[in-house]
Amino acid sequence: MIVLKTASELAAMRRAGQATARALARVAEAIRPGVTTRELDAIAEEAIRKEGGVPAFKGYRGFPASVCLSVNEVVVHGIPSDRRLEPGDIISIDIGVILEGFYGDMARTFPVGAISPRAERLLAVTWEALERGIAAARAGSRVSDISWAIQSYVEAQGYSVVKEFVGHGIGREMHEDPPVPNYGRPGRGPRLEPGMVLAIEPMVNEGRDKIKVLSDRWTAVTVDGKLSAHFEDTVAIWPDRTEILTRLPG
Ligand code: MG
Repeated sequence: MIVLKTASELAAMRRAGQATARALARVAEAIRPGVTTRELDAIAEEAIRKEGGVPAFKGYRGFPASVCLSVNEVVVHGIPSDRRLEPGDIISIDIGVILEGFYGDMARTFPVGAISPRAERLLAVTWEALERGIAAARAGSRVSDISWAIQSYVEAQGYSVVKEFVGHGIGREMHEDPPVPNYGRPGRGPRLEPGMVLAIEPMVNEGRDKIKVLSDRWTAVTVDGKLSAHFEDTVAIWPDRTEILTRLPG
């Protein structure tokens, strides 16, 4: 069941989204060679609580940290640890915040120091895939128009999209209907309506799309060991526009 949000609920979701974005910006400032992912997780939790929010992922199905930190070949759901970032790494930060009973959810992949041109290109393509997915999310279009916008662009760049994890509706629950896959033919699935809020989140692999989950039951990695990147925003559908709730003005 898709839960449509009222204007006042959307205002609350905007506050949650903006808090999420400010907290992520704090963590991003701390990314540098030598920092551990556990230190970044602590910074994230402090930043989220300073916003008056609660880390949405902490304890979610037993997830043991405040944010997911996924380095290099880790696709998503990386668990913070004593691993030290090295120059040339890429790190995805997936952050969820509960504020006033609503969820904000976003992800960005950052370079650590100077990265290779091939890593730079993966980040640029995954960002553009998110932009194209959001551009396809308009009142009157269908969910799989988003999917197709992402998949067709990513594959034309020679990369693959992850199939096992998908975007989702979001609101008073982190994962609401409808699922928003990053693959599929256009013109299918529910029609987008004003009041819908979606987390759109392309996960793009440099090599093959196959992934596996490690024995910690969280960490998802590429089977071929190549890089993976992840960008996500929470967006609200209005009659005449789509508002990105998790981007700061300016
Ligand atoms: Mg999400």
